[in-house]
Amino acid sequence: MKKICVFGSLNIDMTIFVPHFNAPGETLTGTGMSIFTGGKGGNQAVACARLGAPVKMIGCLGDDANGGMYYDTLVKEGVDVSGLRRCENITSGIAFIEVVPEGENRIALAVGANGLLTPEVARDSEAAIAECGVYMTQLENPLEAIMEGMRIAHDHGVTVVLDPAPARPLPDQIFGLCDIVTPNETELNILTGMPTDTVDEAVAAARSLIARGAKLVLNKRGAAGVLLVTADECRMIPGFKVEAVDTTAAGDSFNAGLAVGLADGLAIDDAIRLANATGAISTTRLGAQPAMPTREQAEALIKAQA
Ligand code: ADP
Repeated sequence: MKKICVFGSLNIDMTIFVPHFNAPGETLTGTGMSIFTGGKGGNQAVACARLGAPVKMIGCLGDDANGGMYYDTLVKEGVDVSGLRRCENITSGIAFIEVVPEGENRIALAVGANGLLTPEVARDSEAAIAECGVYMTQLENPLEAIMEGMRIAHDHGVTVVLDPAPARPLPDQIFGLCDIVTPNETELNILTGMPTDTVDEAVAAARSLIARGAKLVLNKRGAAGVLLVTADECRMIPGFKVEAVDTTAAGDSFNAGLAVGLADGLAIDDAIRLANATGAISTTRLGAQPAMPTREQAEALIKAQA
């Protein structure tokens, strides 16, 4: 299998379960709490490793205790950490998450060291990027660094996957640098300013990204699966039927399954099936990284619903 390179964010997610969202000035006692490693980049790298793929993470952690904890987690999961930076005098990225009983959340995010992922870091990683088969990135770091990494991967003929999350309007040039872009419905709407509720609307929106340079758009559509759109074809690839309990990081799990499938040389439809299965299984368990399946578990679901 070819190597996968994930270029992106690393956050520590601190979640407190509260009876209701607190008011200004109020001190609210929670009913429980959890501390997990997260951030889209770290989630995708851990999910690739869980699926058994060789994966290298390029990203920035601070020199705080959280950074040490995240580093150790990645090592334990089998992620190649030789491209990680431990930045001095800055905290690691951190998300403070309040969750109410209805499941809704409020998040305050401090990007910390994620903001120090610069174009120079991407250039310093050129040799590591060039030896990979698949390069995957998201939008939680400075855009100029994201684009520089994509340009390097693209120039070396590495398959580039952009997960445009969290979505923001993007320059046209970025789409010409990616082979596959994987927005969910909300992200596709923000990227294009076009409606994406129905499949027909989503096809039109995806085609507008193709007009801006994207080769293949995979629109993630929750339990329904994924809509594949190129310049001359469009079709739904259905998802798997599961009992979903927590959809956190379903998108990250999907992207990891896709990258692993491509790195393993699968045809695009088979890679998408592995992605759908990986995303589906992640929704049947609580949390982000703890919910990510092994390759055997994903293959078993594919076989069971063939
Ligand atoms: P995001 O997490 O980015 O919002 P989605 O919710 O569309 O993205 O989930 C990503 C993928 O995970 C879907 O395309 C699908 O393959 C899988 N998935 C998500 N929710 C479910 C579900 N309830 N049942 C089965 N598969 C799901």
